[in-house]
Amino acid sequence: MNPEAQQDVSVSQGIRMMFYMMKPNETSFQTLEEVPDYVKQATPFFISLILLELVISWFLKGKPPGRLDDALTSISAGIFSRLPSLFSRSIELTTYIYIWENYRLISLPWHSPWTWYLTFLGVDFGYYWFHRMAHEVNIMWAGHQTHHSSEDYNLSTALRQSVLQIYTSWIFYSPLALFIPPSVYAVHLQFNLLYQFWIHTEVINNLGPLELIINTPSHHRVHHGRNRYCIDKNYAGVLIIWDRIFGTFEAENEKVVYGLTHPINTFEPFKVQFHHLVYIWTTFWATPGFFNKFSVIFKGPGWGPGKPRLGLSEEIPEVTGEEVPFSSSVSHLLRIYAVVQSVLMLAFYEETFADKAALSQVTLLLRVGFIILTLTSIGFLLDQRPKAAILETVRCLGFLMLYRFGHLKPFIPSLSFALELMIQGREDIMAKSFRLLTYSFQNLFLST
Ligand SMILES: [Zn+2]
Ligand SMILES: [Zn+2]
Repeated sequence: MNPEAQQDVSVSQGIRMMFYMMKPNETSFQTLEEVPDYVKQATPFFISLILLELVISWFLKGKPPGRLDDALTSISAGIFSRLPSLFSRSIELTTYIYIWENYRLISLPWHSPWTWYLTFLGVDFGYYWFHRMAHEVNIMWAGHQTHHSSEDYNLSTALRQSVLQIYTSWIFYSPLALFIPPSVYAVHLQFNLLYQFWIHTEVINNLGPLELIINTPSHHRVHHGRNRYCIDKNYAGVLIIWDRIFGTFEAENEKVVYGLTHPINTFEPFKVQFHHLVYIWTTFWATPGFFNKFSVIFKGPGWGPGKPRLGLSEEIPEVTGEEVPFSSSVSHLLRIYAVVQSVLMLAFYEETFADKAALSQVTLLLRVGFIILTLTSIGFLLDQRPKAAILETVRCLGFLMLYRFGHLKPFIPSLSFALELMIQGREDIMAKSFRLLTYSFQNLFLST
């Protein structure tokens, strides 16, 4: 997927691609370079649908579909998960191309609708098995658990993605590389992911006969539940038939309580991404015996010595429906501050992706560092961590330094003069502004 060579999708295509309603003749390409970065181009549609869900939820239920702190954390994880793609082609494509170039058995014609439909089925089948293993193999769960850590269920939850996941998911698609051209695979890999966006909602109840064949909001709500009846069910990407065939289907009945069976109770992005890896590490060393250690990594997250591979159902905490989701206690003022900083950072992230070909590796690295610092700082702020004020001050200074050394341009050109004045001052001005920033942030944080 080459950002230079791609055509922009039209509004009609943009809407249809969110539901996999694309035709083979408009989405078949001879080379990988011609394949548009559909996921990249989906950002305005993600935002529009999130706003639409907000309006519909207010209208139908008189309340928003989720909570601000949770939604910000989901969007933050979505951004985090896309950062590695700034530096290299994703491992899902690299390994696929390698297998295709060295080991393919036949080359199906890239322009045939039959290849298109076969790839649709193949990618969705691969996704089912990847997703199932991501729940049944502890080391894979370490990545995928990020997606399940939201205690709300709305469109923003779909964006809560793992940085680690693609390092194992490619395995499940690699058999397709024996006969399906990479350009066709790259199209369906993206549509399969995009389709799974709209099913993360509570505003759509039941879709009648469609529920038999395709994955729907109702089926996927069950997948996100921590009620005992929901665990290890409905792994489908687009077609629910795989769950029906392989015995993992469960229909929605009693009220679903969302999230992990053991909630992480934090909005801090590194914990959201990596806390389970740390847990595996400590469990690995605490568990006696070589085979047991091996099982800690490759059996289910609920496994322990003497237990079945996927653990014991009765050990899953029972839900009452009265669970109170973890929420942030910060003031309204700080919430507004967090939203404003998130929006600015989102614009900065978008611009970095758009300009990535023109930026030096150093600038790219520094910008990614700044994005991660921003995500972490907002997480600290929402968590009301004691170091939040200091981290935010460091972040603001980091912004000024990036500007000073030419690694970013200001969003509003008229601001550049003020920035220039501020930065070109002597070091004591920098020291004074550091003290002033720390002081103001500490006041702001302590007053909440
Ligand atoms: Zn899952
Ligand atoms: Zn999901």
